[in-house]
Amino acid sequence: MNDYGREASRRARNEKAKRAREQFLMLVLLLALVPTILCIILFTKQSKLQKDMAELKQELKKYELQANSNGTGNGNQGGVGIANATPFPTPESNNTPQPTNGTIPADGTSHKTGGDLSQEGSVVPATDVTPGTDLGNVTKPSPTPTPTPTPTVTPEPTMALDPETGEPLPWADKKVYITFDDGPSKNTDELLDLLNQYNAKATFFVIGHEGEESKRLYKRIVDEGHAIGMHSYSHDYEKIYKSVEDFEKDFTKISNLLYDSIGYVPDLYRFPGGSSNSRCKALTIQPFISFLLERDLRYFDWNVENGDATGKSYTVEELAQNLLDGVEKNRVSVVLCHDTNAKGKTLESMKIVLPTLVEKGAQILPITEDTPMIRHVKPAGED
Ligand SMILES: [Zn+2]
Repeated sequence: MNDYGREASRRARNEKAKRAREQFLMLVLLLALVPTILCIILFTKQSKLQKDMAELKQELKKYELQANSNGTGNGNQGGVGIANATPFPTPESNNTPQPTNGTIPADGTSHKTGGDLSQEGSVVPATDVTPGTDLGNVTKPSPTPTPTPTPTVTPEPTMALDPETGEPLPWADKKVYITFDDGPSKNTDELLDLLNQYNAKATFFVIGHEGEESKRLYKRIVDEGHAIGMHSYSHDYEKIYKSVEDFEKDFTKISNLLYDSIGYVPDLYRFPGGSSNSRCKALTIQPFISFLLERDLRYFDWNVENGDATGKSYTVEELAQNLLDGVEKNRVSVVLCHDTNAKGKTLESMKIVLPTLVEKGAQILPITEDTPMIRHVKPAGED
């Protein structure tokens, strides 16, 4: 081979090597670029999703606020509130409260839910809350669904007449609102059967019992036209009345449980132990009263007791007589009774009370918007 030939083949080799180098560089570049581009695309996607999520969260908050304000009374929903609105369960309501104290024991006598249930209506030595302790934070908005006004059941003008004389029966102008606290219990079904039998309606101030059986009972109560009200979740005076925040926690739990069971939050409340309970004095109950009023709830105490929680061991007949004696003295009676596993005698006494009230022509009604409020302690500023 001559020089010229050698030179040509060297050039060709160089050319080839150069091309190979270029190809290699191209490959490296490509390998580096593809992941970078992918990263950029994914990053953009992710930030867009994050933005969407933030927007959705805001929207949800808006709906929750709307749902809350719809129920609080001023109007264009006709006061029907959240029962008719699309429900927006709060995080708490997805988070079903733990059944710490609740399924109805089958054996009967002991009522497990917090607090000393036998205290109600009885005089218990007071344990004072130091005035002002933790009671200041009243105006924190509640995350619970808004209470729904109890439907007004307009009772037919039933002036019961004596079929023989045509005259009004002796108790025809009496209105009797029997209330059962602390339920539901293993007695609730029979109690409801009995009320049905006498075409009587009552009010159940219920507490937090977990489980399907209790849910069924909460629902049966309202399905059969009785009024339902809240009576706290735990019924534990020490917990509930510790501070408004503790009261709110408990209130949220019972609200959510009832919302899940009956589809709305009742607008009736009975303080455990009543508004004049042994844990709170007239002054220290006021923040809790304000809490309820701010949420358009009404609270009821009682002016007649059958005495089933006074600590005295009344017979069935005595329980009935206590109740009837009380009713005799009033034109409007809100009667305190209890519906717990241990109150079988109260259930039995209704077999005397109900026929007697019917016979004398009294109206046995559920608490409605028209019911005169019987309250031991009134909101501050009201006479
Ligand atoms: Zn109670």
